[in-house]
Order: sequence, then C-alpha cells, then structure tokens
Amino acid sequence: MPLKIIRGDITKLSCDAIVNAANPTLLGGGGVDGAIHAAAGSGLLEECKTLGGCKTGQAKLTGGYKLPCKYVIHTVGPIWRGGECGEKELLELCYRESLSLALEHGCKSVAFPLISSGVYGYPKAEAFEVAVSTINGFLKNNSKEDILVYLVVFDEEAFRISRKYVNYLEND
Ligand code: ADP
Repeated sequence: MPLKIIRGDITKLSCDAIVNAANPTLLGGGGVDGAIHAAAGSGLLEECKTLGGCKTGQAKLTGGYKLPCKYVIHTVGPIWRGGECGEKELLELCYRESLSLALEHGCKSVAFPLISSGVYGYPKAEAFEVAVSTINGFLKNNSKEDILVYLVVFDEEAFRISRKYVNYLEND
C-alpha cells in the first residue's frame, strides 16, 4: 500500500523526506513549521535564508540537518478564504510539487502533514480529502516509481477524520 495514514509527530519520522507546511518567507513560523525548525537546528534556517522564499503551491528542498530524515521539502499551502479563491487547486499543487521534488531526489519514502489545515484555516475534513485523493492520483500516474507516502495526523480532530479513510485505504 503506497499511501499510509499514521498518527504522530512528523519530526520524529526517519523517512527520506518530510514535508513542511511553510509560509512564503521560508523563515520559520508556528505549528509544524516551528516544530521542524526547532528539531532540525539552526542549519535549516541558514539554508532557508538562501532560497528566496517560496510561492503558494510551490515547493523547495533543503537538507534535514538534525532531523532523522535526509531532506525537508518546504511547500506553501493556500490560506483558506472560503473556498472560492482557488484554494483546492493550490493545495493539490502543493502535494504534487512536493512529490515530484521527492522523486527527482530519489526519495523512496515521504511524509506529509495535513497542509493548510492549521493556522491557514483549511477545513480539516476537506484538507484530508484533497490530500488523500491528490496523493493517490499522483501515485497512480507514477506507478512505476517505488515510493511510500505517509500522511501524518497530529491533532485529535485530524485523527478522528482519519479513521474514515483507514478502511478505504486498506481495501484499495
Ligand atoms: P498551516 O499554516 O499550513 O495551516 P500548521 O502547522 O498550522 O500549517 O498546521 C498544519 C497541520 O499540521 C495541522 O493539522 C497541525 O495539527 C499539524 N501539525 C502541527 N504540528 C505537527 C507535527 N509536529 N507533526 C505533524 N503534524 C503537525
């Protein structure tokens, strides 16, 4: 099964790449971004300063520094503005761009948080649906690639929503 949903702290995962739900400056922030920078150490921020920021829907790759992963892929999710401002398309793009970058760097395992579903306000159930369908779509289109994708749920609400997907994924 190439997509797995797991509960935990993404900074603890030793996969090839973890994805950061960053902001356009790439200079750190709260939520998962703050946790990743805190665990990676100051080397990550130093490298991020050289990248010139990142546009919404795009992704950039850095080293993992003190994290147990090799790379961090920083992507900028859309801020939720009611759903009529292209949020879904931009969120889909985040997953696809991050996965493309992971493949370009030979990653065999990648872990995503639920992008945009925290401070950026994307409704969690909808963010979850976009994540699962976009990742599955990408994996189908790249079925020759040997890659395992984790979707990491952290908070109680996301965990509750994730239960709905477990059977679907196991039977897929
Ligand atoms: P955004 O600004 O894109 O909304 P946030 O970091 O505020 O990003 O939240 C995105 C998701 O990441 C939320 O569902 C939040 O619960 C989750 N999250 C926060 N910390 C962690 C962590 N250490 N590991 C995995 N997920 C996390």
